[in-house]
Amino acid sequence: MKFLILSFLFFIFSVPSFGFVVLIDPGHGGKELGAVSTIYLKDRNGKKIKKKVYEKDLTLTLAKKIKQKLEKHFSTYLTRSFDRTVSLEKRAELADTVKADLFISIHFNSSSSHKFHGFETYYLDNHDDKAIKKVEAIENIGMEGENKIINHILIDLVIKQTVGRSKKLANSIHDTVGQKMQKRFRLRDRGVKPGLFYVLALSKRPGVLVEAGFMSNPKEIFKIRSKAYLDVYAESIAQGVVKYYGTLPPKEIPLF
Ligand SMILES: [Zn+2]
Repeated sequence: MKFLILSFLFFIFSVPSFGFVVLIDPGHGGKELGAVSTIYLKDRNGKKIKKKVYEKDLTLTLAKKIKQKLEKHFSTYLTRSFDRTVSLEKRAELADTVKADLFISIHFNSSSSHKFHGFETYYLDNHDDKAIKKVEAIENIGMEGENKIINHILIDLVIKQTVGRSKKLANSIHDTVGQKMQKRFRLRDRGVKPGLFYVLALSKRPGVLVEAGFMSNPKEIFKIRSKAYLDVYAESIAQGVVKYYGTLPPKEIPLF
């Protein structure tokens, strides 16, 4: 009997927590291309060929890899699993449908200057930074017409309720990406930053928006497209989430 009780206790504390739900959001999709980068490759005969790389494809590839790694630990869902247009509101609504505990939006950065490079992790919060406002303007495209006027009282309420946990999650993910990616891929750490991203606000969940490298940087886009880069980035995000989960007080961890 004692053995049975012990095995039962071992069972509940060692199995993955499928009562904890993570929703992963591959940015853009369908007619929303996101950032577009032109690269030149060589064909079999050594002839230069031009190829366009779309952020919407890279975000989907990375998000699927993260899902694959995270579903060993938690219930994990995607806001889209193929190339289709999904409004920011629909993505956020899915957080209610699947009763998400965390919302992770995946993006790649772009700038008019080819110089910028590196990775950033955002959490929802107010700020006054002009450079961040440029990133917000790009990632906030995709709101349905009349909903463009966001209820600022709602945003403030969501920030108040989630900012502590979102910041902690952002730090956990960002630190792991730093440890695993920075040296190996010579990736610049651009820091954990506050940002007003509608998709995070509307999801009303603790969450982060990841900018996993600059597509506009001619060297970085080649790294980003590689399997190794995307595999290690996905592993880093997954480990960051698992570490964050480990810091939650027991009352927030649903056993079943
Ligand atoms: Zn994006």
